Amino acid sequence: MRYYSTRNYNVTASLADAIFKGMAPDGGLFMPERIVRLPKAYLNNIGGMSLQEIGYALANFALSGDVEADALHDIVYDTLNFPIPLTPVADGRYALELFHGPTMAYKDVGTRFLGRLMAYFLQRQPGARRVNVLVPTSGDTGAAVANGFAQVPGIHVYVLYPQDGISYVQEAQFASSGSNVTALEVRGTFDDCKHMVEQAFMDEDLNRQITLTSATSINIARLLPQTFYYFYAYAQLMNISHEAASNFIIAIPSANLGNLASGILARRMGLPVKRFVSVENVNNIFYQYLNTGRFTPRPSVYSIAPALDAGNPTNFARITAMLGDVQQVREVVHGYSFNDDEIIQTITQVNQEHGYTLDPHSAIAWRGMEQDLQPGETGITLATAHPAKFPQPVEAAIGHELEMPLQLVRFLRGTRHVTTINSGYNALRNFLLQ
Ligand SMILES: *Cc1c(COP(=O)(O)O)cnc(C)c1O
Repeated sequence: MRYYSTRNYNVTASLADAIFKGMAPDGGLFMPERIVRLPKAYLNNIGGMSLQEIGYALANFALSGDVEADALHDIVYDTLNFPIPLTPVADGRYALELFHGPTMAYKDVGTRFLGRLMAYFLQRQPGARRVNVLVPTSGDTGAAVANGFAQVPGIHVYVLYPQDGISYVQEAQFASSGSNVTALEVRGTFDDCKHMVEQAFMDEDLNRQITLTSATSINIARLLPQTFYYFYAYAQLMNISHEAASNFIIAIPSANLGNLASGILARRMGLPVKRFVSVENVNNIFYQYLNTGRFTPRPSVYSIAPALDAGNPTNFARITAMLGDVQQVREVVHGYSFNDDEIIQTITQVNQEHGYTLDPHSAIAWRGMEQDLQPGETGITLATAHPAKFPQPVEAAIGHELEMPLQLVRFLRGTRHVTTINSGYNALRNFLLQ
């Protein structure tokens, strides 16, 4: 199948080109030319399938012309080697726990799949140059990408992060990942890191000498596997109640709208979700768009849900490519925005009333779901991170300490390798070429 650019339907690429380029040459985002609609019979039987079985079947529908069946089977089964349970929290309200992967955040699904798919294409081109993945991070993305690509042959990952800008646990999650991951501590801010990476991608001379690629959610291969868990949530809901499965909504904590774009893709494939609730923190660009019809990026501000601090949601073009104008978007997506106090309040309240602990990102989505639910509807909130990843706000909200899960402790025990470089593009360029 070909992948077209959201800026121009006639600019297309193969799957391999789309994933190694990341962004289309005209600055658009790649989208599949055809979105396969799943047969009704398949959806009716989905309740009996495991997460991996669903993932493999969906991957086959989307990628069978581009990836051999055996290899695709291994890529999917290896990506999804952790559970994604639909956990009942309150009457008619569930959390889809996407945080049982190696870095305990939802990005594990997309990055593990992307890493394995890139490795597959590299293995089929003997003599291919090493591919260098550059990731600026304020915490979570770097950890997920480093772990998604750790030990993947032919690929080296450089994680750029602000000195003093992230926690010790976050740094440990990528600085101890392995020999093909370099942790680059930058004497500057997160914005400096982002700029340095952007300049590297634009430096034609550098790009002739080494192969660079990106692993953010602009990469279509991160979005496809995220459709798997939407269908798996539906399968689990069917097993609980057919009635609930015929009348449900899904709430998502949104930043760059990657998760929302995957959800809409799943709906186009036939997921019978009534609508999505997209919930932002005070960086509410998409919420403003839903209200006013105008999409106006602006610099982001810090919050206690840091993975939502995005000022220019990159996947916006995909949302409108799939749904149309703002009127049509509003029919499928409702938007909300909450501040830090409201996040804390929600964590406290859900903990007291239901004995369930949400992380700040999941709490935002939960609050939006509660406000949007209509009588008779069932609500699913995507729980995108484990609460122990954000101990300070969560412990303050629930009034007691959280236990550190083994997965996170393991990172703290690993040997950390860090290189410190100056802020500014030259420091990065010199480091990459040395
Ligand atoms: C990245 C992230 C999000 C936001 O997802 P988008 O796809 O960028 O909208 C939400 N929660 C957590 C924990 C994340 O790491």
